[in-house]
Amino acid sequence: MPVESPLPVKLSAASKPETAEAQARTAIESLYDRFVVPTVNRGLTLTHGQGRLVWDDQDRKYLDLGGGVAVSSLGHAHPAIRETLARQAGILIHSSNFYYNEWQGRLAQRLVGLTGPGKVFFCNSGAEANEGLIKLARKFGHAEGRYEIITTTNSFHGRTMATLSATGQEKIKHGFEPLVPGFVHVPFNDLAAVEAAITPKTIAVQIEGIQGEGGVNVASPEYLLGLRELTRKRNLLLLWDGVQCGYFRTGRWQSYQRILEGIPGGEDFIPDAIAMAKSLGGGFPMGAVWIREPYQDVFGPGSHGTTYGGSPLACAVALTVLEVVEREKLAENIFARGEELKQGLEAMVGTRGITAVRGYGGLIGFVVDKEDPSAVVLRLTKAGLILIPAANHTVRFLPPLNVTADEIAEGLRIVRESL
Ligand code: PLP
Repeated sequence: MPVESPLPVKLSAASKPETAEAQARTAIESLYDRFVVPTVNRGLTLTHGQGRLVWDDQDRKYLDLGGGVAVSSLGHAHPAIRETLARQAGILIHSSNFYYNEWQGRLAQRLVGLTGPGKVFFCNSGAEANEGLIKLARKFGHAEGRYEIITTTNSFHGRTMATLSATGQEKIKHGFEPLVPGFVHVPFNDLAAVEAAITPKTIAVQIEGIQGEGGVNVASPEYLLGLRELTRKRNLLLLWDGVQCGYFRTGRWQSYQRILEGIPGGEDFIPDAIAMAKSLGGGFPMGAVWIREPYQDVFGPGSHGTTYGGSPLACAVALTVLEVVEREKLAENIFARGEELKQGLEAMVGTRGITAVRGYGGLIGFVVDKEDPSAVVLRLTKAGLILIPAANHTVRFLPPLNVTADEIAEGLRIVRESL
């Protein structure tokens, strides 16, 4: 498929001599070496993408089923996102939150319609959305002196000081002590442990429906229903981190709807607040906190804020993503593709070092019990497939919601032949 490079200088031009290509690649890497803070061990140098494909600086093509870590919900260079970005840039990119803007109002209405009665606060990232959940809980419990939040081991909520303190993984916190006080970690999927951890200072429980970074660990239906009942009974907020598992990734708007589908009482389950980000913006930075009625006005004027959150441009793009998902029936698509993927991976269990498969739709993990998942991802990348490592020996598929059956089959073929 012919794709025009979006770069002003086409570093990957096939016509360039081999040495020039190598030099260009080294030049980019050396820019990083000299000027970019080395928080990550980086792999490829990507130059452009189209659909579920990306190209590196040597014009090698990769099937991208990692979706920029659950962000590129419509794949790369989607025409609807390109059109909205261009149109909105010519109307109003930013206006500050001292003013109303139509797109923020419309997106909030849409998110409330999809989730349930309440209101939305907009921000720019998953960490900020989780920070919003934490601040909501603190504000809600402030008059009573309640501030403790129970979270789970293996969880991931972000890299700000409060969200890394909430995160249940030691490697994320290491070196940043003293942490923000008021977080207690208990094992995931263990209702009795949550109950035992409640003190007179507890204000909330914060969980992911499917722990993504922690290894695609899915909450059980009993756990979710039990948590909802327990938190209601003890006047605690149930805070939901839907940053990675939300927005139709499991084939339903939020992962609790998928997990509880067909379970008696499941359709009535609703958290008190949800952190949203990642694929909501289809690649454009966007975050949101949905807050359920009757807590929607806990944040009054001046109590929380943002410069960029809810900008006309970000909201116009998110509205477009949601329109495309609905029009092209991508919720149904990703659930069906996920079932194919799971079946294909399950057939490999017991071979190639694969010991288990977990997840739904566009959030599927396979466990490589004895191997470093980053090394496995590197091997697959060399074979032309981009996936994402996770904790606990897990490798994740996080494909765009519009991935095709052929692309899933191709991804499975590469895993089958490369591991
Ligand atoms: N919460 C979850 C469940 C995540 O997976 C992530 C990122 O991977 C975050 C929060 C943090 O999001 P961000 O990197 O946009 O701050």
